[in-house]
Order: sequence, then structure tokens, then C-alpha cells
Amino acid sequence: MTILTTYKRAYDGTKLDPYPVESLKRVDRPTTFIDEERIQRVDQRAGGFARARSGGLGPSYQNLLGLFKYPLSRAQQRMAATLADKVDGPVAEHRAPGTDDPEAMARHIKATAYFLRADVVGICRLPPYAVYSHSQATGEPIECAHKYAIAVLVDQDWKTADASFGNDWISTSMGFLSYSTTAFISCILADYIRKLGYPARAHHIRNYQVMLPPILLWAGLGEMCRTGDIVLNPFLGTRFKAAVVTTDLPLAIDKPIDFGLQDFCSKCAKCATHCPAGAIPFGEDSTVVHNGYVKWNNDVDRCLKYRIGNQWGSGCGVCIHVCPWNKPFTPFHRFVRWTMTNIPLARRLAIWGDDLMGYGTPNQKNKWWHDLEAVDGVLQTPDRSGKRFVNSPTDRASD
Ligand code: SF4
Ligand code: SF4
Repeated sequence: MTILTTYKRAYDGTKLDPYPVESLKRVDRPTTFIDEERIQRVDQRAGGFARARSGGLGPSYQNLLGLFKYPLSRAQQRMAATLADKVDGPVAEHRAPGTDDPEAMARHIKATAYFLRADVVGICRLPPYAVYSHSQATGEPIECAHKYAIAVLVDQDWKTADASFGNDWISTSMGFLSYSTTAFISCILADYIRKLGYPARAHHIRNYQVMLPPILLWAGLGEMCRTGDIVLNPFLGTRFKAAVVTTDLPLAIDKPIDFGLQDFCSKCAKCATHCPAGAIPFGEDSTVVHNGYVKWNNDVDRCLKYRIGNQWGSGCGVCIHVCPWNKPFTPFHRFVRWTMTNIPLARRLAIWGDDLMGYGTPNQKNKWWHDLEAVDGVLQTPDRSGKRFVNSPTDRASD
């Protein structure tokens, strides 16, 4: 955010959220169809990384080491791991006074999350179908019957995104910046709620019992986008990671949002054009119904294999970097964002302008990190660092 907008919001006591979420159009349901009668709860062992670990993508993808070739991402991953068993605990015997007003508590919990350095926070009822059916770690059935879900988003850092290809050495670290920070915030928030006398559990990168996308949609934190199983936030694009706290603390809920993304993604395909794995579909209507959810028909396994096996860096987030919604929060970009949201005819112009201005091209003068690669446990300076691929609707990129 600019100094001016940050200053104005920081000193305006009526504005709780750092971003102007009050300006978003609220709707009764998410903008992509969810057939709640048909959704089956998902077994965590069927998830992408769980399948990779168990050998489902082939032996060379099993140890996930490709994601942690860069020493910073390794350090971040180890820190997040220390929070794996901090997600739950005893609930105070006596409830704290003044905690039974849902409106007041929703406001207080959001303020607490922002104090802990969250960037965007939303609250919804916990959809029962968002709870995984079985644990990846133990195979045991999962039960989580809390009433509410508090979702916390943390930005992966605009300046680093601006400098990076998205598939160079800093890529996994950007994701883990947000994963480790949201893990930290969610564990503290859950513990705080338990100290107020209400059950609460954190769900973060090292210990989830819930799926995030339906929660983010119902909590008004974004819409589904062309990249597939990912929710795009109007202020951060897809440049964030999330964690959730489920709880029985009485909370007022948010409503889903509509900022025109379904129409925007149908006109734009920058992520499909530059995905190094060719995992994102082209076409105006490349959506499918998957387990009761309408989503863009991405190829999850291609994406996973590329992120684990990337030879040009560590992990991948090219689709995050090239997306026209991946912008800083300046007055100019706020204006463009407003036109993209409110004037359908301006969307093609915005996409064309994004290309014309060279957005998505790495701005290497902002590069602050050292390229390093762990090879057989020894750090080396790699002779390659990210690469921009260009696909057309009739071909797919390959490494
Ligand atoms: S391979 Fe990279 S660009 Fe393609 S979908 Fe996966 S993360 Fe996005
Ligand atoms: S790059 Fe374009 S098509 Fe892809 S998610 Fe962003 S807005 Fe949608």
C-alpha cells in the first residue's frame, strides 16, 4: 500500500481492514456454482502433495526435495513444522466477559488477526463438506464440527513478486513466507479463543483438517480463477497463502464477493500463456464440475510435477506473477482495479494495457536474494535462474 492510503486507513478508527473490503460487492453465494448436495468430503490422502509423497506421481517426485533446494525455503519449512502440534489445546473453564455478541466478536477477532500481521481476514460458517474425511498422516477419520471458520490471508510480498520470474530460486520461499506467517497467526488466534473459553483449532500448512477454497469463497475473500483450484483475492491477486481457525465462538459472518472475475478470466489467459507446465487451460469456457464445484479445468499433476522438478529454480508461482491482479496498492492501480471490477468493457483494455506496460516481466533491479541451490547437501551458485515460457492455445510448454 502507498504511504498515503496506509496512513489514512491507519488513523481512521472506523476502517478495521487494511484494504477497503467495505467497497466490495457482496452476494448471497459464491460466483461459481457449488452443488452442496453432491459434494463428497475429500480424503486428505488424495491431495496432490500426499499423492506425490506416496509415489503416485512417480519415484522422482516422492521426496519433494525440489521444493527445498533453496536454503531460505528449507529454513521456513522447518519453522512452520514446529507449529504442527500447536493447533489445538485445552479450553478455559470459564468464558471471558463480553464475548457473546457475534458482531463485536467478529470485529475483535479480525482486529486481533490484523494486529498479528494478517493482510485480509474473512469469516464464514464452516461448510461441513470443507472438512477432510480422513487424515493424511494417520488415515483416521476426521471430525471437526465447529460452527465458524476464520480465514487469514498473508501477502507473499509484492516487491519480491515484481523482481521474480516466479520459477526462480526465491519462488518457494515466497509461498512459505505466507505459509509460515499464517501458521503463526492461526495458532495464536486459536489459542487466544480457547483462553476466552471457546473451542478453536488452527488449520495451517503443516496440519489441516479443512480444505481452504470453499472457506475462502464463503468468507468473501475471493472468487475461483482460471488457474484451477485457487481463489483470487481482489487486492492481492493469487499472491497469498491462507490458514484457518475453526471455532464455536459466536461470530457474525461475511458474505461472498463478486468483482467480475469470472468474466475477467474468460477474457484473459495470461496464466495459461506463461505456465511452464502447460497446466492451465485456454478457452473462454474451460470449466468443469468436479465433486460438485465448478472450476477451471487445470491439470493438477502437470503443475505438481513442474513445481517439484523445476530445474530453473525452486517451486513455481509464474501464474501468480503474470496475473493482472498481482499489483501493488497504489492510487493508480486502485483506479485500474476499480475499472476492472466495475466496467466489463474495460476488462480487455486492462489486459491489453497490462501487456503493454510489461507487467509480469521480472523487474530485476528489485532482486534482493542470492541464487543458491543445494546439490547433494552442498550449496552452489546455479548457472540458471528462472525462465519465461510462452504457450499458445494449441501447444503446451515442457521443460
Ligand atoms: S506450473 Fe507454475 S504457473 Fe503452472 S499452474 Fe503450477 S504454479 Fe502456476
Ligand atoms: S492471469 Fe488472467 S486468466 Fe489467469 S487467473 Fe489472472 S486474471 Fe484470471
